[in-house]
Amino acid sequence: MDKLTVTREHRPDDIAVTIGPSRIGNGEFLLIAGPCAVETPEQMAGIVAMLAGNPAGMLRGGAFKPRTSPYAFQGLGRDGLVLLREAADRLGIPVLTEVTDTTHLELVLEFADAIQIGSRNMSAYELLKAVGRQSKPVVLKRGMAATVREFLYAAEYIVAGGNEQIILCERGIRSFDPTYRNVVDLNTVAWLKAHCPFPVVVDPSHGSGRVDLVTPLSRAAIAAGADGLMVEVHPNPGCARSDGDQSLDPAAYRDWHRACLDLARFMGRTC
Ligand code: PEP
Ligand code: MN
Repeated sequence: MDKLTVTREHRPDDIAVTIGPSRIGNGEFLLIAGPCAVETPEQMAGIVAMLAGNPAGMLRGGAFKPRTSPYAFQGLGRDGLVLLREAADRLGIPVLTEVTDTTHLELVLEFADAIQIGSRNMSAYELLKAVGRQSKPVVLKRGMAATVREFLYAAEYIVAGGNEQIILCERGIRSFDPTYRNVVDLNTVAWLKAHCPFPVVVDPSHGSGRVDLVTPLSRAAIAAGADGLMVEVHPNPGCARSDGDQSLDPAAYRDWHRACLDLARFMGRTC
């Protein structure tokens, strides 16, 4: 095997990642929440109201959306970044948003505190090199059919550029069963915690595609060792322009928030 330095063999100690006032890893637990896509000022006001009562450590939201169909909502681009930044500033928390192409990176870095590499781009090597050359934290989502080895090499591309502030995200892998959009791979969560120094977050929203499974899968992820969770929320999921079926509404978000913090504290995490 080629040189691989992202394992505990080379980096034995937990690496904590700092995103503005928030931290994850080495015992610190982080909740990340926000809409799949930034849609309207009214939607973002609803998101602010949801998170104001039950704080998350980071606001997520897509302005550049990688969609299966070219006719589906592609995101608001720069206008979406502006709305996302305003909402996060009102909450006093950092912003995580996806970059889908190297040509958008400079623009996204103007607004974001952390950069997401989506599942579809886990193997976009020029994009990995580009986020490795800049210093903001990177949430690297596992490709939907990527092996652990391929996932680790994607992280290796980022550290090879000089950036060690990486959060690994297990977001579900493809299976044979159409009951679920994807299946959260808890094997990999436990494996990564044992063999890798980076914080691991689980995304049970994309990991199942079903709002009814988000809380049980979140609990399972915490029990398996996850350092954080990322979920999609929406003030009115029935009207969401993407991923409404997996987005928590205000009441479900409140219950999820309490369930996750209770279990994380019980497991000895700081949050
Ligand atoms: C997302 O988090 O908005 C997203 C598109 O997820 P994934 O890349 O895991 O499909
Ligand atoms: Mn989504």
